[in-house]
Amino acid sequence: MIVNSQKRSFGKGCDVSLFTLGTMRATDNFEKMYALIKSAYDTGINHLETAASYGKAEKLIGKALQKLETSENIFRKEWIITNKVLPKGDFNYLKNNFEKSLKNLRLQKIHNLAIHGINLDEHLDWVLNGEGTDFLKWVIKKGFVDQIGFSSHGNYKLIENAIKSEVFSFCNLHLHLLDQSKIKLAQLALKKNMGVLAISPADKGGRLYSPSDILLKASEPYHPLELAYRFLLSKGITTLSLGATKSEDFTIAKKLINSSQKLTSSEISALENIEKLAIKELKSSKCEQCRSCLPCPSEIPIPQILLLRNISIGYGQLEFAKERYNLIGRAGHWWEEKNASFCLGCNECIPKCPSNLNIPDLLKQTHNLLVDKPKKRLWG
Ligand code: SF4
Ligand code: SF4
Repeated sequence: MIVNSQKRSFGKGCDVSLFTLGTMRATDNFEKMYALIKSAYDTGINHLETAASYGKAEKLIGKALQKLETSENIFRKEWIITNKVLPKGDFNYLKNNFEKSLKNLRLQKIHNLAIHGINLDEHLDWVLNGEGTDFLKWVIKKGFVDQIGFSSHGNYKLIENAIKSEVFSFCNLHLHLLDQSKIKLAQLALKKNMGVLAISPADKGGRLYSPSDILLKASEPYHPLELAYRFLLSKGITTLSLGATKSEDFTIAKKLINSSQKLTSSEISALENIEKLAIKELKSSKCEQCRSCLPCPSEIPIPQILLLRNISIGYGQLEFAKERYNLIGRAGHWWEEKNASFCLGCNECIPKCPSNLNIPDLLKQTHNLLVDKPKKRLWG
């Protein structure tokens, strides 16, 4: 079934649908990958996103695209493929791995290649001045990819530097309704005519497919995930990644596959109700994510930790916030390294906060609320 869906220009590359199938969670077996790519097609999605580091993903995609061509007349040339490569290794290592990726995908070329996880300054340096430079020149010169982009879980300044480097023409960022801290960066990238993909607005955006009762009620008559998608699309974010695991995960995307228009008054009112909910629950203790409290001498990621407090108390997404909090220090450079227990109580941050928050107290409270099975409560 051919679905006519709206496409948006994605940097210097081919136009993509408003939703992108992220394949990270589709790697269990061939049947699953095939069914999800077919569901994506039936939804009107033309953009697949994967990575060499997603286990068997490339091989399963290669096989699925071939079978879709022979069994369903869904031709490989209809898909726009984004692959990602980690910022490490020398030219020969990268070249060999890239050739292996093409072989796995059963393709002669892909459209977009992203540097997977520019999370540290050294990763950006690897692209701009290190081993990455020659490799990226090579893939472009050989016509193996149309454009180079990056994904990042790094800090604001690093992402800003990457966007301003003029090397990339698209980026994959954490852009969420409940965490709007990177929206300005997305707008900066869009202004530079870069394509912008929102990473996991459903899951990493607060596990919105499983909303709390208070969040569900506040967002009526919409589902919170539908509102989150509409919020991002109306901000001009080019495409939203959908890490589907089953066909039902496409339901909202099917509804919104052509919905990049401005927010309606009814949607604005529902979004305002969600904000009112957070204000009611958090009272005057909502962290506004302005980052004025940084740097902290103990390198505590204050805004990120207080964001988890906002999400757990303000919107009722406690389980999500717990999971993220307890990953701190356990995911290398893919997430924060220090949790609130590293606070020295020096109080240097307090006068810097325009919202007059008692940051050390809120950090203690957040730690006690979110830390899993603490052997010993650190405070209180
Ligand atoms: S009180 Fe804690 S969070 Fe604030 S600056 Fe000092 S160490 Fe950092
Ligand atoms: S200065 Fe205050 S409001 Fe701003 S990010 Fe830090 S804690 Fe949040």
